[in-house]
Amino acid sequence: MKSSFKVIIVGGGPVGLTAAHALQHAGIDFVVLERRSSIYDDVGASLVLRPSSLRVMHQLGLLDKLRSIGTAIHTGGSFTAEGFKFRRGDEVFPAIQANLGTLPPASTQASASPTSPPSSDAPDAPAPARVTCADGSIYEGDLVLGADGVHSIVRRIMRAQLLASDPAPAPASADIDPENPFTTYYRTMWFSFPAPRLASRAPPPTPTPTKLDHPTTERRSYSEQERAQYWRLFRDLAVTDKYKVGDLYPTRYSDGMANLEEGVLRRWHHGRIVLAGDACHKATPNLGLGFNNGLQDVVALVNRLHPLLSSPSLAPEHADAKPDAQALDVALAGYQTARMLLAPDDHYISSVVTRLWAWHNTIYWFLDRYLLPILPGMDAWVANASAQAECKGEVLDYIPADEPFVGKVPWVHAMPSLVAKDSA
Ligand SMILES: Cc1cc2nc3c(=O)[nH]c(=O)nc-3n(C[C@H](O)[C@H](O)[C@H](O)COP(=O)(O)OP(=O)(O)OC[C@H]3O[C@@H](n4cnc5c(N)ncnc54)[C@H](O)[C@@H]3O)c2cc1C
Repeated sequence: MKSSFKVIIVGGGPVGLTAAHALQHAGIDFVVLERRSSIYDDVGASLVLRPSSLRVMHQLGLLDKLRSIGTAIHTGGSFTAEGFKFRRGDEVFPAIQANLGTLPPASTQASASPTSPPSSDAPDAPAPARVTCADGSIYEGDLVLGADGVHSIVRRIMRAQLLASDPAPAPASADIDPENPFTTYYRTMWFSFPAPRLASRAPPPTPTPTKLDHPTTERRSYSEQERAQYWRLFRDLAVTDKYKVGDLYPTRYSDGMANLEEGVLRRWHHGRIVLAGDACHKATPNLGLGFNNGLQDVVALVNRLHPLLSSPSLAPEHADAKPDAQALDVALAGYQTARMLLAPDDHYISSVVTRLWAWHNTIYWFLDRYLLPILPGMDAWVANASAQAECKGEVLDYIPADEPFVGKVPWVHAMPSLVAKDSA
């Protein structure tokens, strides 16, 4: 019996939409509130999905569609400004395939780094959760899921509620994150362009981060003029063996430029508010971990909501019964604990790789430009380290499915159908 529990998802970006799919399969009611007029606009950079994310997409019935709009990545590499390919990385992707059973595909449909003003008002706590939109419409539910990106308004509202509920002054509370919780050291540009301009098996160009003069926690958006100046700066930079930025940029569908905030929140939930995706952790983009981590948030969260809302006391004769605040809090705390075991490491590794690729200082420059490219077995080591982290990715506990990918490194969380077979 379905509970009348309802989730209000604020943000129809990749994480919010994945949450909608996961909740739909769990039989949990939801509404998605998105401030843009369309969720189909291609306003972001390419998204590379990890094999662990593809397993979840398989459960959601979206894998084939994703494959049809993406290109499997077979190779990688780094170029000097003059176009010399000093790191080939030819063996990384075959090793990923051997370890995890599939190559990561890159799609071109993502949204990243929204910068315009928010449209949602403060949800009330503790219940029911209520969201008032800029047009005056009001949505009520039992849980507000803030999937509204790096500049999350839901995060701000949650912080204000935490501060109001905490008798200690803000600086004394280790559990309350600063108002601007992420720090930016780098900025980057990206653009998408017609795929035929690249060989079909080539990777999408990796963003080129440049270091800011001073790290900042302040929000920053870039005008069209600034973007134009920035791309001119890099027009002669090689992005593949054949093409430079200047060859491809004029054919672009869309482009963007953003500060690359970094950080992981200490507190991901309070009362009837919970955060997921860039709203609660922000990684640099070089390893393509941002959405992949947001997807894992959704899985960890809905895996804990589903049993809570399927408990016998809620159905069938208590159709309107809902978990009390304490039970909800335990589920949300379990979600945060599970994610805190994995997300911070991913974010740390991503920040190190960004510094390597951006030649943050002389040591990083020497390592990236000269030492690491010639170390024997480096590609296999990278692929293995990445598989050891990635094999811990959760799958949705409530959607039985065949295992689509089998490699040398076993998945820690088996697909539900396999668990059932094992225990039979
Ligand atoms: C150059 C670049 C390359 C990247 N490459 C990869 C990659 O290969 N793989 C990967 O996993 N990640 C990658 N990322 C990161 C990835 O784009 C983000 O992690 C991901 O978009 C986060 O998804 P999200 O849904 O949490 O937030 P967002 O994508 O920011 O979406 C938030 C949504 O909420 C909406 N919104 C905001 N405020 C409100 C409001 N108040 N009311 C209603 N709606 C609101 C926004 O309009 C938006 O639609 C990359 C990022 C960049 C910058």
